[in-house]
Amino acid sequence: MTTELLFRSDAYLKTAQAQVIAVHERGIELDRTIFYPMGGGQLGDTGVMLRASGERIAVADTRKGDSIDSVLHIPASSMPQPELGETLTLEVDWQRRYALMRLHTALHVMSCVVVAPVTGGNISPDKGRLDFDIDMSLLDAQGIEHETNALIARAIETETVWITEEELDARPELVKTMSVQPPRGAGRVRLLRIPGIDLQPCGGTHVQNIAEIGRIRVIRIRSEGKRNKRVEISLAVT
Ligand SMILES: [Zn+2]
Repeated sequence: MTTELLFRSDAYLKTAQAQVIAVHERGIELDRTIFYPMGGGQLGDTGVMLRASGERIAVADTRKGDSIDSVLHIPASSMPQPELGETLTLEVDWQRRYALMRLHTALHVMSCVVVAPVTGGNISPDKGRLDFDIDMSLLDAQGIEHETNALIARAIETETVWITEEELDARPELVKTMSVQPPRGAGRVRLLRIPGIDLQPCGGTHVQNIAEIGRIRVIRIRSEGKRNKRVEISLAVT
């Protein structure tokens, strides 16, 4: 089933109402959602769905379903089951999601400081990482941290841009990630643009202005194999 992905046009929605369109063993499907399903290296959202009675259904994870734009809200164990057609009030765990958005956007900035093909990536609420196909000797933690923070300090507004799959095919240089290709089949591809810094296909959630990231710290650099040199960052505690 198809779900309207409200976070795509507004990543800052903390609450919304939605109707239940399917309930099955893999999860609960809704007509619209603010919960981001795990993808592109970003973890799925958690939160709660409130019933009209006030009863709470805790959402332990959010995953993609089988079809394009299908989203599975996975309830925590022994939660009440909603009825088909029931209206629920969704509340995303905003503190966790906002940390994911800040780290995710920080990785976009960092991917322009380390100039090398990206072979992997992951974002959890406490840290994010990118793997690069690069020689270890070219990775300097202090330098990466300093340059990334200098770019973040430019406080640039981010933009979402849509292009057709044909346009993307004509500009393969836009795709930095060798392991995560943008989803295909919908006819158009979503890009994140940080003017003057980065432009690449991405379906994730980002902050509106890169200043919201604050400062980052490079917490570790290590080799995870010949083509995977991993740079791990966290948000600096200020
Ligand atoms: Zn992104």
